[in-house]
Amino acid sequence: MEEYVIDIEAENKEIRKRYRALLRACKPTLQRGDKKEIRMAFDLALESHKKMRRKSGEPYIFHPIAVAQIAAEEIGLGTTSIVCALLHDVVEDTDITLEDIEAQFGKKVTRIIDGLTKISGVFDPNSSVQAENFRKMLLTLADDVRVILIKLADRLHNMRTMEFMDRHKQLKIASETSYLYAPLAHRLGLYAIKSELEDLSMKYTDPDTYKFIARKLNEKKAERERYIADFVAPIREILDEQGINADVFGRPKSIHSIWTKMRKKSIPFEEVYDLFAIRVVIDAVDEKEKAECWKVYSIITDLYRPNPDRLRDWVSSPKANGYESLHTTVMGPKGQWVEVQIRTRRMNEIAEKGFAAHWKYKESKDSNSDSSLDQWIQKVRDILGNPEQNALDFVNEFKMNLFSDEVFIFTPKGALLQLPNGATALDFAFEIHTDIGATCIGAKVNHKLVPLNHKLQNGDQVEILTSPKQRPKEDWLNFVVTAKARSKIKSSLKEEKRKVAEDGKEILERKLKTLKITYNSENIHKIATYFNFQNTQDLFFNIAKGQIDTKELKEFAEHRKQPEHKINQFNAHISGLTEKINKKEIDEVLIGDELQKIDYTFAKCCNPIPGDDVFGFLTVNAGIKIHRTSCPNASKLMAHYGYRILKARWSSTVKNSVGFLSGLKIVGIDDVGLVNRITTVIYQEYNVNIRSISISSEEGIFEGHIMVYVRDIQQLNSLIKTLKAISGITGVSRYEYENQEVNKD
Ligand code: MN
Repeated sequence: MEEYVIDIEAENKEIRKRYRALLRACKPTLQRGDKKEIRMAFDLALESHKKMRRKSGEPYIFHPIAVAQIAAEEIGLGTTSIVCALLHDVVEDTDITLEDIEAQFGKKVTRIIDGLTKISGVFDPNSSVQAENFRKMLLTLADDVRVILIKLADRLHNMRTMEFMDRHKQLKIASETSYLYAPLAHRLGLYAIKSELEDLSMKYTDPDTYKFIARKLNEKKAERERYIADFVAPIREILDEQGINADVFGRPKSIHSIWTKMRKKSIPFEEVYDLFAIRVVIDAVDEKEKAECWKVYSIITDLYRPNPDRLRDWVSSPKANGYESLHTTVMGPKGQWVEVQIRTRRMNEIAEKGFAAHWKYKESKDSNSDSSLDQWIQKVRDILGNPEQNALDFVNEFKMNLFSDEVFIFTPKGALLQLPNGATALDFAFEIHTDIGATCIGAKVNHKLVPLNHKLQNGDQVEILTSPKQRPKEDWLNFVVTAKARSKIKSSLKEEKRKVAEDGKEILERKLKTLKITYNSENIHKIATYFNFQNTQDLFFNIAKGQIDTKELKEFAEHRKQPEHKINQFNAHISGLTEKINKKEIDEVLIGDELQKIDYTFAKCCNPIPGDDVFGFLTVNAGIKIHRTSCPNASKLMAHYGYRILKARWSSTVKNSVGFLSGLKIVGIDDVGLVNRITTVIYQEYNVNIRSISISSEEGIFEGHIMVYVRDIQQLNSLIKTLKAISGITGVSRYEYENQEVNKD
């Protein structure tokens, strides 16, 4: 650890300085008496954190001040939130109680602090505590959304100042951030915070790629700025001529979004054309907003030819998180596509600061202007209203429903409904009404008959067909995506099962009578355990379905053996596993804090090879699996099962005669002999073995997936470079089976 020399006087000076900067940031929302309240909160926070320091050695108070500043400046929150942000760690970490807070700051502040205190401790090393905490946090959304906004500010500051934590903790926090917090920020419309969280998280989970893209961006910075200036100049001229007041500027895209694009399209950095977007922010009065946006659109597309496939009109139909903007992509100088975003000042503020700005405008606009955001909160409440769901299911479903982009679907009468991307006709039916969903037999999409599982597209008009004889089916769960449809189908199936189980109970009672076994709850539990059922209802259900016959019950009666309790089965299993783990003779990977040689296998979802940044994951049935920290499943595993993550690193003496399996995706122009040239390079120049090749080609474009056995990351990178140089090949990238091996085990 670095030594930190403390100069109290200088520190106090710095604290005052930061506090004054905070006050300046609050200024736009300050009203009479606010300054005094903020001062009170600051004094209390300062006093109660007096003896605490952050990992970096800095005084702890720097943290709450910074969180408050983010809340004010970057989210646009008002005095109550500033006060709560300053006090957010006080109850958690010091002797101050909620009663103390209430006496000094009143009920409103206390409620928010209480919410913030409940959702801390996210890194508790116990089971699904993380998911449970996330759920708790969303429960507070029903109370006061400010809790979540302050929590996001807290997370952002922690991410910004994470360099002093140990690597293991960094990975966990970063993964959790990309899995939960960034999507949440996105859903609340906080685009700037979302992008920063994603970038910061990538900086820790995939540092090499992060640094690579950052360096590349920096290299071309001057060139890019010149291009933007040339592109913007004629637009500005015409806007001036027509007397339209506007800011026109270039906005760089985030490192994470560039990386996502490179991966999605398997293209090198050089081929990502939209490293920036042009934004036009115009002054317009409320009634004229839409017309003005289209006027600017017309000016720009007179200058540059638009790509007709890339027009997005979120001015007429705002996104569910409140985002409004008009996007188009035009052909700029030098044959380069450029994305242009057109919006008014009001729309821009909502896009940058999201929720809070949204509410600020609520009063000034007509009542349905933010109905979509209200709808979203209503949906959160709907999902939260289903108390039986376990926390992990909840988080997954929540992500699926509320974080995905939406499609807009019309009813036969022309009403507009928003559904998550990928929603089916059946989801739509449930969205209209539970009974319509439960009795749905099919649908007409744009007047054409389609099955229940038909995926809906933006702008579809859907009519639902029902039959009174229809009932929800088990397999419906395989294709519905909305939480509403899922929970309704599940509860209906449960109800069915309950009825069947009731019959089963009677049958069992009769059978036990003939076997001379007393029907009491103790015996029933013993029978359930004997036949391996989770609960007695499953037992009754299976009896009714004829899965257990009298003969088997007789066997039970004869044996009457002591049931093995299922309690703590998982824990016993884990400790059993750790005991059983053998010490390996030769090891490529060392695991755990002591970097021991213990048994493991490589995860097939990301195929780690020596040189990759890796971690171990303790599975329930398959021992320890080694994943790359940049694995597509990594963030999910870490966010959900942080307590099962183990440190791992490559041993310095990796030797493996076979090599390590790795995938390559190769894209190019289809050409006779290309496959031959590829395999020649792999076999002869590199002496690398191929496990499998699959190649498809469509309209002259060739795409190949090749699994090879390589020595390490250096060899793989060199192979990729050589393959890229083959004429006809346009892209080579490392390839992963996305989502293939998820955390089921
Ligand atoms: Mn904090």
